Amino acid sequence: MIEKVKRKSMVIRPSGRSSDFITPSFGYGCLLDCSYCYMKRHMPKGLSIAENTNDILTEINNHAFFATVDKPNQTDPQYVTYDIACNEDFALHAKHHEWENIFSFFKDHPIAKATLATKIIPERFLSFDPQRKVRIRFSLMPQKISSILEPETSEIKDRLLAVDRFIDAGYDVHLNFSPVIYYDGWKEDYAKLFCMVDKHISNKEIVKSEVIFLTHNVDKHSYNLQNGIPGENILWTPDTQEEKTSEYGGKNIRYKISIKSGLTRKFKELHNELIPWNTIRYIF
Ligand code: SF4
Repeated sequence: MIEKVKRKSMVIRPSGRSSDFITPSFGYGCLLDCSYCYMKRHMPKGLSIAENTNDILTEINNHAFFATVDKPNQTDPQYVTYDIACNEDFALHAKHHEWENIFSFFKDHPIAKATLATKIIPERFLSFDPQRKVRIRFSLMPQKISSILEPETSEIKDRLLAVDRFIDAGYDVHLNFSPVIYYDGWKEDYAKLFCMVDKHISNKEIVKSEVIFLTHNVDKHSYNLQNGIPGENILWTPDTQEEKTSEYGGKNIRYKISIKSGLTRKFKELHNELIPWNTIRYIF
């Protein structure tokens, strides 16, 4: 169900990883149901779309002029970056949004730049040139895991083939290796993925990446089991994971610190061996 609402919460939160800040939600919820999705734990079904787009843009404008962010930093060399899609897949839901209005705002803004992660190919965006003031972060994982955990999304190869096309259209494009999941054979699968990245991307000098290892949630785990959502055998592995309460109070599980440092090192070694041209902006 898609509901148009007047978004009341106008809180702009600091991020510091994917972006400098997170905007109020243009959309909240998702029409898909990826097994690991962190936002579905808050809203398992449905999608709300803010009808007061201009109120949100006004808030971002007011915020950007007073934001104190040292540039360059890892999110961007020049602009203050705002993630516009933390609680949805904005690209997937674009037809429900005033996306051209939102992209035009960022294109013309002297300080603010938009960024969004997606698992689909938003063909409609190709008709708009944001002059590099909108960054698309294509999410990537080995195809065989994607087919289980995010079955309704675009093929990984297609996401890679989209990278050059979106750069040519005027977008800034990065890669989002997320979530990275540890299972038997993960390294071999990531080696294949990195070879595909190397093969299908030509604009090697400008495409950067971010790497985020899996955080799963206790409530989402139960929901998945009760609703037959696949993948818990690879998402829920208590021998390698430990509990951590999130800053918002949710009970999450992450790879044990002792294991994660080794996983991070192996990921970076493999990455640097096979796609040394690709700068990792951050990994955690
Ligand atoms: S596309 Fe993104 S927001 Fe939607 S269910 Fe998948 S992970 Fe969640």
